[in-house]
This record gives sequence, structure tokens and C-alpha cells, in this order.
Amino acid sequence: LRFEEDPSGAEHFGVLEDSGREARLVTRGADGSVSLSDQRLKVQAVLPPVDPVFVYGVGLNYKAHAAETGMQSPPRHPVAFAKAVTSVIGHEQLIVIPQCCSEPAEVDFEGELAVVIGRPARDVSPADALSYVMGYTIANDVTARRWQGKKGGGQWLRGKSFDTFCPLGPFLVPAGKVPDPQALTLETRLNGEVVQRASTADMIFPVAEIISHLSQGTTLVPGTVILTGTPEGVGHARDPPRFLAAGDVVEVEIEGLGVLRNRVAAETGRPGELKL
Ligand code: MG
Repeated sequence: LRFEEDPSGAEHFGVLEDSGREARLVTRGADGSVSLSDQRLKVQAVLPPVDPVFVYGVGLNYKAHAAETGMQSPPRHPVAFAKAVTSVIGHEQLIVIPQCCSEPAEVDFEGELAVVIGRPARDVSPADALSYVMGYTIANDVTARRWQGKKGGGQWLRGKSFDTFCPLGPFLVPAGKVPDPQALTLETRLNGEVVQRASTADMIFPVAEIISHLSQGTTLVPGTVILTGTPEGVGHARDPPRFLAAGDVVEVEIEGLGVLRNRVAAETGRPGELKL
């Protein structure tokens, strides 16, 4: 867990205690090795587990989701896109619907497995790819659908990159604790109701193939985050469509990785004022 002890304070890394309120500090030795100390600190605010240097997304990576968006056949290559690092927020922080996405409603949720790269990866094979993963976390690839389409000029970048549109966390689970990233159940809940439920086994391009693909001729530097796609059940494909609104609570749970929870607020149009 990456966290702050007090709102103005320095950031720390720790392992959350069972109480959920304190964390045992993780310290780094002179040789770069990390160890768990006996010192405990109060967790006042959970930060995103990583401050990413780059965020990739992969779209349409579950067959049933690709189908619900109207695609005739699944993609033949990973549909990679970028998401601005400035969109990243942590567990329990607010997803804020900006004014420009408010009328009509268009902001959608996408629960996803996220991968954090731990050492430089370039031209890696699928067989070696998972050895470059530092750990796994949970993401919500929040998306403004009109801006993903026409308003974004045909590129997804704009609709995926508004401030607060990339909740990440709460934990960075070391890769060694996740023996098979393709055998995890993922569930998204909207105000407690299950809206997405799938297994990462249903990915069209598994994590190893995504990393190998993205690393072709391109260095994935440590701190790169890759969102691996969302299963079916997103709001715009529902009947009737169900977009996010102020007051909603979105939870994404992945087996062994925890629950990422974020409440939704909306800008009112008056500077600095939010509808909660
Ligand atoms: Mg997505």
C-alpha cells in the first residue's frame, strides 16, 4: 500500500494490517532490497499504488465485450491506446464528471486488471514477458463515450484521459503472489449491484502477449501501467444505458487483489463546486 500518514505528509509504503487503519512500514536498504519493519503508521489516505510514468490501455480484449460494442469479430491485434497519467487517482478518491461530459450523461465504468512493469522491457517474448511484471493492481478505465468517439476526433485518448478517470489500487500485489494472472475472477459493482463479472481467462490477448506486443521496438520503463481491458457489462452497452452520475459508488474487485472503491461526483459549473 502507498499511503499518507497525515494529509499534508510524506508518502510511505507499507503492508496494511488486519485493522485496515494501520500499515507496517516497508523500508529500503542501501543495497536496494526492501524489508518489512516493525514500525506502524496510521493510514490517513490511500494513494495510487504507483505514480505511473505511462498508462497504456488495451481495448476490446474480452470477446463478449467486443461483441457488445458491435464488433463483428474480435480484434486480431491488441487495440492499444494511451491514457494521460494525470487521470490517475487512488482508492476512495472521487471520480469527478467534468462539465464537458455532463449533458447528456456519457461517463462509463470499466473494471480491469492492471499490470505494473518493474524492469525495462523491450522486444520481450510472450514466454519471458511476465518476468518483467512487478505486480498487479485494479483499475477502473473510466471513459466518456462521446469524447471516445466523435468528440475525440476518432482517437480514444481524450475520452479516456479526463482528470480522475483512472482510479488505481488499492494495493500493488507482488507478481510472485499472483501465480496465474489469467485465472482471476473480476467483478464490478455499481451501488452494490453486480454489473460485470468475468474471469481473466476470457481475455483475447493474455497479459504476457500484451506486454510482448507493446514492447516491440518500444521500451516499457519501470512504472509503466497497462490496463488489460474490460469484460462485458459496461454502462453504454446496457439496455437501457446506465452512465455514471453524482452519488454513484463503483467497486471493482479482483480475486486476491482487493476491492477498488470510488464515489462519483460532478462539477456543477460553478468554480470549485461539486455535486456529491
Ligand atoms: Mg478499458
